[in-house]
Amino acid sequence: MIKPDGLFGNYTDEIKKVILESGFSILEEMMVQLDENYVTIFYAEHSKKSFFPRLVKYMTSGPVFVMVLEKVNAIADWRALIGPTDARKAKVTHPNSIRALCGLDSEKNCVHGSDSPQSAAREISFFFEEISSG
Ligand code: ATP
Repeated sequence: MIKPDGLFGNYTDEIKKVILESGFSILEEMMVQLDENYVTIFYAEHSKKSFFPRLVKYMTSGPVFVMVLEKVNAIADWRALIGPTDARKAKVTHPNSIRALCGLDSEKNCVHGSDSPQSAAREISFFFEEISSG
């Protein structure tokens, strides 16, 4: 997922280029404007955290661009390609990562990646079945 700051910064084409050059195929893609309800479902694991209200504000500040990526070892390779959660850290430790390219800090980190096959299945179904069917 390219988050609102990634879209506002016009990084979509550059990120898609990196995705394809890194051996991923893009199977599906969709632009969607999330609302508070959707963010609460998507980030349910964080809903009790102190930063959650800010996360909702950030994730609803503009549209997100979601993609289904395919590759052998896709989950680990994508997480490696995006770099650590905190983009400030990414700029130091993973300067070639996507978060180093377009992220700002531990909140505005411009991209997301599913962290397991189970969460990928849940998130793909959330976006491409539940949300897209309205
Ligand atoms: P994502 O799930 O978006 O791929 P992640 O798995 O690297 O990110 P998580 O710990 O799951 O990181 O946090 C989810 C998102 O919540 C982060 O990507 C970031 O946007 C936001 N976030 C995480 N920690 C903080 C924090 N301390 N302050 C503000 N926002 C945060």
